[in-house]
Amino acid sequence: MVPFLTQQDPATVRSQCPYCGVGCGLEMLPPAAKKQLTRRNEEGLPIWGVRGDRLHPSSHGQVCIKGATVGETLDASRLEVPLHRRSLQDPFTPISWDEALDLIAGRIQQTLKAKGPDAIAIYGSGQFHTEDYYVAQKLMKGAIGSNNFDANSRLCMSSAVAGYTRSLGSDGPPCCYDDIDHCDLAVLIGTNTADCHPVLFQRLLKRKKRQPRKLKIVVVDPRSTATSDAADRRLAIRPGTDLVLLHGIAHLLLRRTRVDHDFIDEATEGFEAFATIVQAWTPARVAGICGIEEADLRGLASLWGSAHSVLSLWSMGVNQSVEGTATVSGIVNLHLLTGQIGRPGAGPFSLTGQPNAMGGREAGGLAHLLPGYRVVTDQTHRQEVEQAWGFPMGSISPRPGLSAWQQVEAMERGDLDLWWVAATNPLVSMPNLGRVKAAVERCPLVVLSEAYAGTETAEYAHLLLPAAQWSEKRGTMTNSERRVTLCPEFRRPPGQARPDWQVFAAVGRRLGFKSQFSFESADQVYDELAALTAGRLCDLSGLSHQLLQAEGPQQWPYPAGSTPTAEAKRLYENWVFPTPSGRARFIAEHPLGLAEPPCDTFPLVLTVGRYLGQWHTMTRTAKVPRLMSMHPEPLLEIHPDDALDLGLEKNGIAAVSSRRASLVTKVLITDRIRPGTVFLPMHWGFMQEGACEANALMHEQACQVSGQPELKATAVRVVPAPQSSTSSKAAGRL
Ligand code: SF4
Repeated sequence: MVPFLTQQDPATVRSQCPYCGVGCGLEMLPPAAKKQLTRRNEEGLPIWGVRGDRLHPSSHGQVCIKGATVGETLDASRLEVPLHRRSLQDPFTPISWDEALDLIAGRIQQTLKAKGPDAIAIYGSGQFHTEDYYVAQKLMKGAIGSNNFDANSRLCMSSAVAGYTRSLGSDGPPCCYDDIDHCDLAVLIGTNTADCHPVLFQRLLKRKKRQPRKLKIVVVDPRSTATSDAADRRLAIRPGTDLVLLHGIAHLLLRRTRVDHDFIDEATEGFEAFATIVQAWTPARVAGICGIEEADLRGLASLWGSAHSVLSLWSMGVNQSVEGTATVSGIVNLHLLTGQIGRPGAGPFSLTGQPNAMGGREAGGLAHLLPGYRVVTDQTHRQEVEQAWGFPMGSISPRPGLSAWQQVEAMERGDLDLWWVAATNPLVSMPNLGRVKAAVERCPLVVLSEAYAGTETAEYAHLLLPAAQWSEKRGTMTNSERRVTLCPEFRRPPGQARPDWQVFAAVGRRLGFKSQFSFESADQVYDELAALTAGRLCDLSGLSHQLLQAEGPQQWPYPAGSTPTAEAKRLYENWVFPTPSGRARFIAEHPLGLAEPPCDTFPLVLTVGRYLGQWHTMTRTAKVPRLMSMHPEPLLEIHPDDALDLGLEKNGIAAVSSRRASLVTKVLITDRIRPGTVFLPMHWGFMQEGACEANALMHEQACQVSGQPELKATAVRVVPAPQSSTSSKAAGRL
């Protein structure tokens, strides 16, 4: 049998795209053998070509502009040796890996003695391979003895995690991409899928083209986007009113008896309390609060009630909210009410932002989780993990660790002595960046494991560790439809760069845990994780690097003894849910609205988002001239009525201020945004030309359940600014 990884053209390498959570399959084409044909990047280094992998069951050969250009990013501006400085005012000087690892292990031991384990924290990333996640959280939760391991997935998907867990009994998206080919109604809420998950959106568009009358698409978004351009109906609700809208739909479904009583009776609990809550959400009230026509609300409820199969898709617009978890449950409530789950084309489906946030969830990659969708607050779960890891009983703390923003607050208080950031750039992606910068400056040792030189976070670090990135290390990633792909090592890392899992393991051994961190390969790391998931919802126990290499990507659950298949899998087809009663739960919550609503001083709501050709904080995409030419600068989108009121001119410059910060930026006057709402991209940090730190304006208030900050909405004031006032690079350290 020809192994999956070398089928088709043996000269190519097959992997998963390292950008978004669609997780498309890529075929990487080596730089041309003939020197004169080799494409080179701006530093003169040869570029790997990319094409979509036709055999990958999640993407069938499709690829978007980001995936297609990833080869151009791999060698540009890399960190190659460990660099250290005593203070942020000093220049970096190279040190050896041994010195760097001794420094970290020594500081951990010193901190454990002086302040205890909670004065140490690791902040990881959905860009990690699952193996990196697993070893990092094992180091923190098992060896160091604190659960202070969190990841940038906290800013991205933690409300989905919490919402699924409360409503269905466990994290885990129930659907698969094939559901796009089976639904009659696709409701896209709080997601600009066309720009953020392009290949999946193209699949939806193709289906719409094939069956324009059979499939209806509804988009709920205050801003018109390429996603809403394809919709049969767009509901431009006011920011922060998603849960009101969902309750309004439930109200109408109940009133018109468009509910599935068999499903409710057999498979759910909590219906009565939920029905009581939504009684109050009459169409007139909901339309008034959401700022939409009552007819649009009734139209959506009618489409939902009459559809055979409803698929809801959402991402950050729902999750990044102070009521993110309640809104996720609000979506699930509608599916439970109408029995729209556990069958083709039906279900609530969160679209993961990052390529491997899903793998992180499986590996215990948040401050309240343990591997296999376990939680630190459950004694049985802790004991199962302690036993598997070979740590004494009681080693794992029963208290959830510090979440992303709590780590910032701990530094602010002087409670953290070591903050280890890996594969992420929080000095651009966190909210309230002024406060983050001031807090990080108080931390005595900031370590940054990073593939690229010159990121904003590096400006605040004392120790830089060069990381081998995707393509330079072997490991797995899980995409939004629970499909695990093996990503092989096919290039040499630059200089002395090492895989993150190896670095975390080396520190574990230096702390004296030789047997727990004796991994010799990423395969061994994966085997240990896979065994720990046996019997859990995310059962990976039948998977291994060898199987994935031979058979190609596989979806979980994949218990030991499973047969490889490219067939799509769904959860909950038997109507049994992983709650104590086996029933899914209706969650009855009153909507809260925005944490920071507009007022006389800050009368507009700023929402932030992403451009098609950019990725997160641009550490990769800014290195691709084609992508930069698509989006050369950040633009403030504002409605013509607001622009007129404020005296803003076409292509003019505006000063945007919130309670926390101000910035100046160029204006794009467009009726594609709701009056009263303005939009900025979140990509540009202070190291980028045309710096526009949108997240500096945003507040840090978070969902009480998930801890996910409300990065999607804050109150701002906008005024005209002189043409000369655009910044080239904004201020870095305070
Ligand atoms: Fe990569 Fe996402 Fe584009 Fe697919 S859709 S190629 S995973 S960025």
